[in-house]
Amino acid sequence: MEPLQHTPSTHVLIVGAGFAGAMTAVRLAGRSGGRVHVTVVNPRPQFVNRLRLHQQAVGRAVPAPHLRDLLGPDVTILEGTVTGLDPDAGRATVSGPDGTHTLGFDHVVLATGSVTQPVPVPGGEHTHAVASLEASDRLGAALGDLPAGADVAVVGGGFTGLETVGELAEARPDLAVRLVTSGEVGGWFTDRAAAFVRTRLDRLGVEAVGGARVRAVEHDRLHLDDGGEVSSDLTVWCGGFAAPPLAREAGLAVDDAGAVRTDAGLRSVSHPQVLAVGDAGHTEAPAGGRYSMSCQFALPSGAHAADVLRAEALGTGSAGPFDLGFVGRTVSLGSQAAVLQPTTRDDVATGRALTGPVARAAKRFQVRGVVSAIGLSRRVPGAIRWGGSGHRADTTPARMAG
Ligand SMILES: Cc1cc2nc3c(=O)[nH]c(=O)nc-3n(C[C@H](O)[C@H](O)[C@H](O)COP(=O)(O)OP(=O)(O)OC[C@H]3O[C@@H](n4cnc5c(N)ncnc54)[C@H](O)[C@@H]3O)c2cc1C
Repeated sequence: MEPLQHTPSTHVLIVGAGFAGAMTAVRLAGRSGGRVHVTVVNPRPQFVNRLRLHQQAVGRAVPAPHLRDLLGPDVTILEGTVTGLDPDAGRATVSGPDGTHTLGFDHVVLATGSVTQPVPVPGGEHTHAVASLEASDRLGAALGDLPAGADVAVVGGGFTGLETVGELAEARPDLAVRLVTSGEVGGWFTDRAAAFVRTRLDRLGVEAVGGARVRAVEHDRLHLDDGGEVSSDLTVWCGGFAAPPLAREAGLAVDDAGAVRTDAGLRSVSHPQVLAVGDAGHTEAPAGGRYSMSCQFALPSGAHAADVLRAEALGTGSAGPFDLGFVGRTVSLGSQAAVLQPTTRDDVATGRALTGPVARAAKRFQVRGVVSAIGLSRRVPGAIRWGGSGHRADTTPARMAG
């Protein structure tokens, strides 16, 4: 039976309306029976599908749904940036188009995502990024100014670096595009998929420079640890993501990358009235290490935070620990190729990867599906479900999130 509608007794502030924050908002507003007033603060009124920012940078059109439509009428949306947080006093400072003001809250959910700036090597200010809409727009403008034959380097061979270099090389075959990575190119994948990644990059004309750690950046070159240099008129830094400084500045316990250290219930270990989800939260996975920054973590962690806060507001007992099992990764290499790599539930590449039309379709489904999952959760608030890690005795392996 649905709970009766009540006057809100709890005010939850969600900082950031990306995948994790938007999911928390719709699920909490939809499932709390009117007991919780949900406010979301986000720098802009549109939803940014971060999975497509590297495509946006090369001029591909990317839909940007209005947050009002995505989150629905039960969520209060404030355009602005939270510039300060006092978790003990339950106050946030918000700067937006209407100036700066203070907002009170009972609980706050930090869903601020991650950034690649500032780049942690000398000369990092010369680099571009794809981690935010603003960075992607700046990169797009800079690419537009680059003459044919110019050197471009993408630093970082993780998923974002691979997808970015593939997109750049396809869109601008007139440039000399390199991927510079400290690891082995495609090294995370199983052997067959790694070979496919290397072949595909080669076909796109990308020169892959593996085992090369960048020690400094200049406006026209990269300096490597081994003394070598790579020419680069434009460098895109995809070499490691960190949380924005807000949590650290608020005095929360954070890890080296500035992400909020949480317990298994996604609450800050230093300030339990604060929850952290998505890239902003460092939650220990049952097998050890933090859950990888990904949509596979962002959406379920956002949903679980909603369940934690709902249980508290409604007095229905604990939502239990968060538990997630990964299933696979889809990585695109330009618009014409993708890899669908199965993983263990602990996010380790395993089994036979797909590289044909099924992989391309899976990638297309993923980039649209992550946004659709939020819309679906607004209409059917308990809709999304996810599998467990198989490590916890206190949760079922395939959890119903309804
Ligand atoms: C180019 C690219 C491709 C990617 N591809 C994949 C992929 O294929 N698969 C995958 O799983 N992951 C991928 N990722 C990673 C994935 O995008 C992130 O893990 C995911 O977006 C995390 O979700 P989030 O909600 O934590 O953060 P975000 O989606 O980044 O949302 C954070 C939101 O918080 C807002 N915000 C930040 N600070 C404040 C503040 N102080 N006040 C108010 N609002 C604030 C931001 O503006 C943003 O709207 C990719 C990332 C990039 C950059």
